[in-house]
Amino acid sequence: MKIHECQAKELFRRFDIPVPEGLEAGSVDEAREAARKLSVGRIVVKAQIHAGGRGKGGGVKVVEGADAAAAAAEGMLGKPLITHQTGPEGQIVRRLLVEAASPIKQEIYVGLTVDRALGRPVLMVSPSGGMDIEEVADKTPELIFKEAVDPRFGLLPFQGRNLARKLGFGPALQRSAITIFSNVYKLFLALDASLVEINPLVITQDDQLLVLDAKINFDDNALYRHKDIKELEDPFEVDPLELEASKFGLNYIRLDGNIGAMVNGAGLAMATMDLIKQAGAEPANFLDVGGGANAETIGQGFRIILSDERVKAILINIFGGILRLDVLAKGVVEAANTVKVEVPIIVRLEGTNVEEGRRILAGSGLTFEVAKDLKEAADKVAALVRN
Ligand code: ADP
Ligand code: MG
Repeated sequence: MKIHECQAKELFRRFDIPVPEGLEAGSVDEAREAARKLSVGRIVVKAQIHAGGRGKGGGVKVVEGADAAAAAAEGMLGKPLITHQTGPEGQIVRRLLVEAASPIKQEIYVGLTVDRALGRPVLMVSPSGGMDIEEVADKTPELIFKEAVDPRFGLLPFQGRNLARKLGFGPALQRSAITIFSNVYKLFLALDASLVEINPLVITQDDQLLVLDAKINFDDNALYRHKDIKELEDPFEVDPLELEASKFGLNYIRLDGNIGAMVNGAGLAMATMDLIKQAGAEPANFLDVGGGANAETIGQGFRIILSDERVKAILINIFGGILRLDVLAKGVVEAANTVKVEVPIIVRLEGTNVEEGRRILAGSGLTFEVAKDLKEAADKVAALVRN
C-alpha cells in the first residue's frame, strides 16, 4: 500500500525525522489559509498523488505569499498531473501539501528497502539526490552507497557513519545523519514498510538536514497489524476494481489486455497468464481466487472481471483441490444470473467433483466452451479475441 507525501511526513514527525512545517489543503481557499498560517515568505505548493516526478511535471511550485499559493493551487487542483510514473492520462490532483520552502545547499538521496538477494534491509544513499535516482543508478552507480542491515542487530551507528562519510559530511552533519538513518530504520521496522525513500534529503543554507520529499510503501500482508495505517489509504489512488476485489479477499491485479482470467492459486494464475501471452493475446487481469474460495467469493470474482469493460473473453481455469468444482460452478452460475454475460467464456476444470461441476455448468443455460486442457483453453480464448 502507498500513502501520500504529506501522510509520510506526518509519520516521519512521529519518529523524530526532521520535515518542514506544512499543512494539507483540498481547495484553493484552504491553500491560501494554509499559506497564511505558515507565516513564512517562500512557500511550496505540492500536488499529492501517488507518483514521483511531480517536480518535473509541474506539481511542485515555489511561490511567494498566500495569494500566489492560492493561484498555484488553482492551477493544480482538479486537473490531471502527468509524470513519468503516472502514464499518459495522468492522475487527478485532489489534495495539496502547502509547506515552508527551504533554501537548499545540496540534495541527497536516501532509500531503505529489502534486498531480496541478500535477504536483508539495505540502506542506500547518494550525494546526487533530487533528480532521477534511476539515472544515477544507471549511469554513475559508483555514486550510490549501501549498507546491508543485519536484522538481529538493526542499523548500527558505524554503518550510519560510513554512509555519512561517503556523502562527504563533516562531524556535525554526520551526527544528524546517523540519527536520521537510525530513525528511518526504526520506522521501517515498526510500521512494516517495504520501502522508505527520502529524495531529496537536503542540507539547508544553515547546514541542517531536512526531509523535503517522503515516500513510504507498506507490506500489504502486514497491514492487519496497522489499522491506523490502513486508514490512510486514498481510494482515489487505487484502481476501483482492485479496491472492490480486496473487500472480498481476492488477489486481483488489473492489467492492460482483454482476456479476463479467473484462476485458483497464484502459481496457476501466473502460468495461465504466460499461456495466454504465448497464444498471442494479453490478459486483462491477474486473479487468484484462493484455495478456500466459496460460491460467494467466486461469484464476486466473476462479477469483477465482467465489470471490466475491456474484457472481450473470459478464461476460467480451475484446478479443484481444496476448492471443489461444484462450488466453483455454483458461484459462476449465481453471478451470471445477476450480471449480464456478453462475452464468450472458455472453461477448463480438473480435480475434485469435476463431473458435478461440469453438470451444473451444462445445465445452467449459459454458453460455455469447455477446453480439455490448459493449452487448448488458452489457444481458444486467444482465437476468440482475434476474431
Ligand atoms: P518529486 O520527487 O515528485 O518531483 P519532490 O517533493 O522531490 O517531488 O520535489 C521536487 C523538487 O522540488 C525537490 O527536489 C526540491 O528541489 C524541490 N522542493 C520540494 N519541496 C521543497 C521545499 N519544501 N522547499 C524547497 N524546495 C522544495
Ligand atoms: Mg522527490
